[in-house]
This record gives sequence, structure tokens and C-alpha cells, in this order.
Amino acid sequence: MHDFLKDFKPNSKLVIFINLNKKFDTLYCLSELDKLLNEKCILMFDQFGNLQHEFIAFHNYVKSFRRDFQFLCQSENWRKCTIELHPRKKLHTNSKKLESYNPNNQKIGNNKKKANVIFLLIDDLRLDKFYGKNRTSYTPNIDLLLKKSVFFNSAISSADGTFASMGSIFTSQYPSATGITWANNHSKARKFFENIRLSGYELHSTFPDYDFFRTISKSFEQENCDIVDIKKGLFDGISETINQHLNLKKMKSPWFYYIHLMDMHLQRSIPKSFSSNIYGKTAYERKLALIDSWLGDLFEQIDLENTLLIITSDHGEYTLDNKMKPDFVPILQQNSLIRKNEIPSSFLPAGLFLLKIMRKILTPYRQNKFEKSLDEYEIRTTYKRGKNYLFDEAIRIPLLFIGAGIEQSRIINDLVRHVDIFPTIAHIMKFPINQNSIDGRSLVDLINGKSENEVPAIIESMPVLSKPKGDVIGVRTSKYKYFRSRSNPKLDVSLFDLENDPKEIKNLASVKPEIIHEMESILNENLKNAPLIKEEITDQRKAKALKTLKEMGYD
Ligand SMILES: [Zn+2]
Repeated sequence: MHDFLKDFKPNSKLVIFINLNKKFDTLYCLSELDKLLNEKCILMFDQFGNLQHEFIAFHNYVKSFRRDFQFLCQSENWRKCTIELHPRKKLHTNSKKLESYNPNNQKIGNNKKKANVIFLLIDDLRLDKFYGKNRTSYTPNIDLLLKKSVFFNSAISSADGTFASMGSIFTSQYPSATGITWANNHSKARKFFENIRLSGYELHSTFPDYDFFRTISKSFEQENCDIVDIKKGLFDGISETINQHLNLKKMKSPWFYYIHLMDMHLQRSIPKSFSSNIYGKTAYERKLALIDSWLGDLFEQIDLENTLLIITSDHGEYTLDNKMKPDFVPILQQNSLIRKNEIPSSFLPAGLFLLKIMRKILTPYRQNKFEKSLDEYEIRTTYKRGKNYLFDEAIRIPLLFIGAGIEQSRIINDLVRHVDIFPTIAHIMKFPINQNSIDGRSLVDLINGKSENEVPAIIESMPVLSKPKGDVIGVRTSKYKYFRSRSNPKLDVSLFDLENDPKEIKNLASVKPEIIHEMESILNENLKNAPLIKEEITDQRKAKALKTLKEMGYD
């Protein structure tokens, strides 16, 4: 083996014989092999191994490498193991331009010229996967960005679903005031794009082809809107679309460019080039590494001295990794060269059939084992948004400001809201908005290090397909989370003490009636101030919205 590895060539194959009854030998053999291969290559094993009990120790060992492994092993007695050697992919590095950027050198105060704005919305991105000690994504650009920006680590979304939240961001009003839901995205609620345009900005956008975005972008010149296929992500051509937009479109300064990325969405699969454990522990976290790699390219193309960049999300997510699903069975790679060479083609259909039967037999066992292996907090990874709960996983999102007008970097712990985003942009970029008709406020004082009194965030679940309105509504402060049934204040009541129970495990609804009373009056005050805009929803419009939601993976 040593001799073989000396002459190692990328993409070559190595066949070894292992006595699977002696697990220690297997592990020893692999650990020796790993030491020798080191940075030179990665090991690929056949995914068949996932189903073989004899391979459990073997597989756990392999997983501990934090590399991309697949089992490529097939023989009559499972003693012959074929290993495919692939060169290790070079990981992306951070942007040099971002590295040399210093927010303290911003001179926008002296500059009469209006700065450009990029508003980047990464759909479905929860806070603790972007910032904090528990994340596992490989993100050299985001790590650097957090050191050079103003970052809010307690930003709360107005809802746990896209349309209600986006409507809230663009109007600085809560969903109960805009009336914007999945079914009614044509609400007459006033969006800020017209204000931005009227203050001399050229409006640009790259967003997925949803009826909703087509509606909100009515103030945009159509030639400045890239309406992209909803099934496509950065690595299926969207990054090129954005590059072309920034470099080839003759963007007339000052411009405002809205970019909406769908790459984090749970229904999207991850490109093969980012599927390695090196990029993150779960598929969800690996998707952030993919976005990070693109961000590196973006920073090389923009001038932060004269561009304000805002990064945020519309809602978070209960991030169930597919591989955690009890019925998960890896997809067989029928076209693998190894298979072609070593397995008679007639075996494949029989093998697949056998696997299907095995999956059926094993699923209840795995389901039980899976549920027992998760604690109360982890079990929420299996939850779905749009139901009768509103945990922080789905409503706590990143909010970051960097570039023109942001003259320092800091992490801000104060609670802020979706509705505060546009008043802040308006304040920095000096475009007028009607302060009386909004629920939000400018965060510029907080950005500049001043303290502000906290304003509670009103939160709600976005309705799922079978209902016209979301199930629950509530209040989020830095100390408490309260939510209850939208139609009946006595139903589905939850109250969590976030200071002592940040994971929201212990429901205090029955023991703290005084806090419930306080939260209820905050909620009612907001609902009273925000009369619902009534608008007719035609069946045709409803059907179109339903189609969109189904395409996004909701059921
Ligand atoms: Zn969304």
C-alpha cells in the first residue's frame, strides 16, 4: 500500500481486502491509510455501507474524519473494498478586497455623492447558523464580514413565512396591517421602492419568478429586473446573472439593487462541489458555505466606500438535515465507474429492489431510534414553519450593515425587527418616508453606539395552504416570547422566559398570568393601531399563489 500511495495519481482506484469480522483491523487499516493520504486526496466508499450493520463502527470512524466519504464497496462477502481516490478540493478563501476594507475610513459624511445600495436577502437563513459558536459552516468571508460590519444578533422577523415577512420589510408595517399573505400578495400596502426611486435612485433587482415579486417590483424599470427561475441557485447560473448585472448592465449611480437568493431553502439540494463535511455538518450549513464562496466574489466586484450593503433574511428554519430522516437511504450511484466495472448490470435492478424492501423493514426501527436520540430542543428540527408555534429557529434572523454610511463595526445585542430595516436605510440614504404610517423606526442611533429603549416585536405564523390566516400571533421581547391562537387568546398559549430558558422548552403560560396580561396588552395595542387593509382576492389569484407555494415545497 505504501508503494502504491507514493505513486498516487488523482482519481485512481485502490482495492483492499479487509476481514470484516475483525473490526479493529478495519479501523486500523483505515486510520493508517488516512495518515498516509493526509491532504493528498479524499476517500470515497460505497453508500451501500450505510445499511450494513457490520459497517457501523467502520462508518462512524469514517464520519469522524469530517471529510466527504462514500462507500464504494461491493463483493460477495463484503471483504473486498474498492476505494476511489479523489484529489482534495481546494477550499475557497476570503475576498482580499474585503480583507483590506476598514469601516473607520468611511468618509461618507463629507461626501455629497449619494451612495449605491445592495439589499441582499438570503431566504430561509436562521441566525444561529450565520453567527455564534454552534455553527459549523466553512465561511471565511462571513467571518471577516462580521468583524467589519454592524451586526444585529437579535433581529426578529415579522412572520415565519416568506410573503408576510417580505411585505413587512418593504412597508415597515406588520402583516396584520399590510394584509399581505400567501394568497394576497397584491396588497395595496405602500412599499418603499417608489420613495427610493423618487429620491433619484435607479432600481435594480434579481429575484425568483414569483407573482409576489413581480407585484412588488412595479416601481422598477422592467429592463433592470432579472426574474430568475425559482429552481435555480447561485451555482446553477444565478451568480453569473448577478455578475452580469453588476458589470454589464449600465447601472446609473446612485442605484438600489435588491437581490433575493433561494439557495438556503430546505427543498433545494446542495451542489456536489459543496456536499463535503468540510463545508459544514449538515446540508443546511453547507449551503451557507456555498453562499460564502459567492460572497467572496461579490466583494471583489463592489466598492464598499460608495456602496451600502445590507444582508438579512425573511425568516429562519427548522433545519432538519435529510440525513437525519429515519427513512433516509443514500441514493445509489448506478453510474459509478466502479459499479460498471465490477457489478454485473443485471444485479442493479435486483439490488435496488432489495434495498427498497430493506428500507421498509428498517424504517420503524430507525424512526424510533431517531426520536429517542433527540432531546426536546433537537426534536424541533423536524418541525415545519406556518403551524401553531413560533420558536426562535424560525423567526430569529441575521441583520447586517456594512459600507457607505457605516463608519464602525460592532455586534449589537438589542432586539430589532423586520419593520426597522427600511426606516434605517431611509435614514442613512436620506430618502423620505412617512413616519406616521409605519410600525418601525430607524436603527441609526443603535448603529452609532447609542442606547435606545426596546420596542417589542409582534410575530405571527404565516398561513399554510389550507388556511387563509396563520394559526398563532404573539410578542417577542428580549426577555419573553409569547404566542397564542390568532382567533382565541385562551388557546395554544405559550410563554417562555428567554433569559433563563433560551431554548424555549418550559412553557410558563399557566404560572405567569401577569406576564401574559402584559404581553396581551402589547399585542392588542399593535393590532388596534393597524387596521387590516381589505382587498378582494380572486380565485384565479389564489390558484396562482397556491401554485407558487407548492413550487417552493410547502404542503
Ligand atoms: Zn422565505
